[in-house]
Amino acid sequence: MPSVTQSATQFWAPHAWIDPVVEFDVLITVSGEGRITGVTPDSGPAPDGATVLTGLTLPGMANAHSHAFHRALRGNVQVGSGTFWTWRDTMYRIADALTPDSYLELATAVYAEMALAGITAVGEFHYLHHGPGGKPYADPNVMGEALIEAASRAGIRITLLDTCYLAAGFGEPPNRHQQRFSDGDAEAWAARASGLKPRAHARIGAAVHSVRAVPAEQLSTVAEWAGERRAPLHVHLSEQTAENGACQEAHGVSPTQLLARHGVLGPRTSAVHATHLTDTDIKLLSSSSTVICMCPTTERDLADGIGPARRLADGGSPISLGSDSHAVIDPFEEARALELNERLATQRRGHWTAAALLRAATEDGHGSLGWPESGRLERGALADFCSIALDTPRTAGPSARLGAETAVFAASAGDVRDVVVGGRLVVRDGAHTAVPDVGAALAAAIKHVTT
Ligand SMILES: [Zn+2]
Repeated sequence: MPSVTQSATQFWAPHAWIDPVVEFDVLITVSGEGRITGVTPDSGPAPDGATVLTGLTLPGMANAHSHAFHRALRGNVQVGSGTFWTWRDTMYRIADALTPDSYLELATAVYAEMALAGITAVGEFHYLHHGPGGKPYADPNVMGEALIEAASRAGIRITLLDTCYLAAGFGEPPNRHQQRFSDGDAEAWAARASGLKPRAHARIGAAVHSVRAVPAEQLSTVAEWAGERRAPLHVHLSEQTAENGACQEAHGVSPTQLLARHGVLGPRTSAVHATHLTDTDIKLLSSSSTVICMCPTTERDLADGIGPARRLADGGSPISLGSDSHAVIDPFEEARALELNERLATQRRGHWTAAALLRAATEDGHGSLGWPESGRLERGALADFCSIALDTPRTAGPSARLGAETAVFAASAGDVRDVVVGGRLVVRDGAHTAVPDVGAALAAAIKHVTT
């Protein structure tokens, strides 16, 4: 993160998406504190000393839902058939192997991969708190602090969503894998989470793993902890129909209704997935302005289904996007999948504009993570942005005026060239400035936790 002694900087972008249009010859000035002090379109050629960005500049992407260690599963879980639940068994084996040191190494590489994809802030939904068998570490937050440090090393912002995870299911104690996740009860979770400290690049939020994992009478403890701090609160919601059935059996209501009953919904809450909802659920979520975090590449990878994002947005819920299990880390792919899923489900096109999809990936994602001052190219915002090349085999062709459409419907993470966080170049010409070989870093880190 930039220090206060850093001097003011100028960036010059041949094209920049300044919601809702693409402007040309845009001069972006940034203070020593890493905030945008001016955005000037039609500024003429790049001034001497300005950092010239490539192609189209966009606000930084927010990855609103991440479990960093799931990256170790990529490619290792695609042989054979199975369900979400068989995938989860493999995921638990990786969780069993992680230590504070190996998680720092792995998460640094994963967040560096995110930076290369244009992501400037991540929401880490973190539940791997304790040592083997559930024994707390001497520093009970050492795993969360490893994630905060990893984001620092990778040069991106993080909201650590410290997750309350107490049960294997309704009325079931944690299984042997889940003992590392559990604090025993929500009061103990709150006491431990209160020890986490924000840093310049890091904010602290809370999460309820799911209605399966937190007994109903303890949900309000987590909600109140977040409410007192005005911190983001995230929750996995109705990703699987089995969760809905079990909740109905235990409590006679849907998971959404249970969350509403215990004060979990609201504008600082993000419901992740929200795949299998009733009409009543949709109304409860959207009328409370609860943010919805869709994770389309994970939802299709895990055969979850397609959630009613359009109806939720129409009712008043902002939409954010996350790469969740990291089967893919590509915010452009997540954004276009939102529209393309709706096309497959309805046999009609044009549910979301490119600008609306970019807003989900940027401004609304940052809002979901408690960074409302990021995600827009405007004076006063944090100087977090990324640029994509408009002359690659994927992006060449359309007029630069169609930059938003090109970004969403043609670009991939591989087209990202420059990434700036707090006024500092984290990626330059497609290369990470602090992690020279991200592929090698990922390979080494994954080897350490899978062999
Ligand atoms: Zn998740």
